[in-house]
Amino acid sequence: MFQPYTEEHDQFRRTVRQFAEKEIAPFADEWEHAKDFPSALFKKAGELGILGAHYPEAVGGSGGDYWFSVAKAQELPRGRSAGVTMALLVQTDMATPVIADLGTPEQVAEFLRPALAGDKIAAIGVSEPGAGSDVAGITTWARRDGDDYVLNGQKTFITNGTRADFVTMLVKTNPDGGAHGCSFFLVPTKLPGFRVSRKLEKVGNHASDTAELFLEDVRVPARYRLGEEGMGFMYLMQNFQAERLIGGVSGLAGARYAVEYSRRYGEDRKVFGKPLIKRELWQHRFVDMYTKIEMAEAFMEKCVSHYNHDKYVTQGNVSMETVKLISMLKIVAGELVSSVMDTCLQFHGGWGYVEEYPIARAWRDSRLLRIGGGSSETMSYYLAKLMGL
Ligand SMILES: Cc1cc2nc3c(=O)[nH]c(=O)nc-3n(C[C@H](O)[C@H](O)[C@H](O)COP(=O)(O)OP(=O)(O)OC[C@H]3O[C@@H](n4cnc5c(N)ncnc54)[C@H](O)[C@@H]3O)c2cc1C
Repeated sequence: MFQPYTEEHDQFRRTVRQFAEKEIAPFADEWEHAKDFPSALFKKAGELGILGAHYPEAVGGSGGDYWFSVAKAQELPRGRSAGVTMALLVQTDMATPVIADLGTPEQVAEFLRPALAGDKIAAIGVSEPGAGSDVAGITTWARRDGDDYVLNGQKTFITNGTRADFVTMLVKTNPDGGAHGCSFFLVPTKLPGFRVSRKLEKVGNHASDTAELFLEDVRVPARYRLGEEGMGFMYLMQNFQAERLIGGVSGLAGARYAVEYSRRYGEDRKVFGKPLIKRELWQHRFVDMYTKIEMAEAFMEKCVSHYNHDKYVTQGNVSMETVKLISMLKIVAGELVSSVMDTCLQFHGGWGYVEEYPIARAWRDSRLLRIGGGSSETMSYYLAKLMGL
């Protein structure tokens, strides 16, 4: 039997589970209504070693492999706040992997270590009002001026954007260079000229903040550039794999919890004198959901095995084969999670449509997986190219 988890993974999983059940779940409703959560949660997670479990000790992590991150992403949804889960996963798996890959010792000390300890909050700034799927179309521009770069432009949809201490940001250093004109920077949000212009009102994931950012003549020291100038797009394609993989992992975990929760609901709820779950029609729909989740999880584990091999065993880049699998997983997980949540909501009838039951929130929160971090259509577009169709 394929069993990637050791006693250390299981212990870590229990730690994350306790954190989600004690530090998130009791406050999930309050934070959902407040459309906010305390930033101190990052520090609590950092102190428990949750943020840096899968990072090398040399950069402030615990030296674990990628299966630790999987355990974390599967347990956090027990907190019943997809917004908080997303905020924490941005910190651990979206805004920071590229720093571990490319950061100088000074950049690691100033940005990555504090982020893994929960002392600094990170955001990833790629999307712009005019460029989401088509990343090469970004227009935020960094002009070299002596020892600094001067940044001008706008970013949007930035998770953790109102609270971040720094943004791992993709900008153009050569406006005419297309994909080859992009570079990555670590941009402290306290720099003059950096402004959070507004917080976006969303369909779901309410506890998490999603912001629009303005940069007007922001002077970023050249020592904050990550890696080589002009290589940003290549780095982003690597970084995206961590983002998409962890999104698929946590999405599938959320779907499994929704099915289990709905099943319990159906044992109590009676229709025409019988528990709802005893109706054959629903039994078949539940069998269908369980089967598809099992299949998707098996595929997810294959993707994780490939990713873990590339990044942790051979300590190299993510291979094109792994990129292909992760892109497929992003589609599979996004579509399946949407359909599972929809079926679970329908199973609840009218109670599925009111806020008293968590399925309403899970249904709308889950919709994001088909859009964020590369939509299903964008994944198909890349796959068609990658597979030479
Ligand atoms: C809640 C939330 C949080 C987010 N967090 C972040 C974040 O932290 N950092 C960040 O940088 N971004 C973030 N994003 C942005 C997200 O990654 C983008 O929304 C996503 O990449 C899609 O880009 P877009 O919204 O500009 O849509 P568009 O690119 O305008 O796409 C519009 C439609 O066209 C489809 N499409 C795209 N390409 C093709 C194609 N080749 N063929 C056919 N159809 C296509 C898309 O699937 C979509 O249906 C977040 C978004 C949301 C909603």
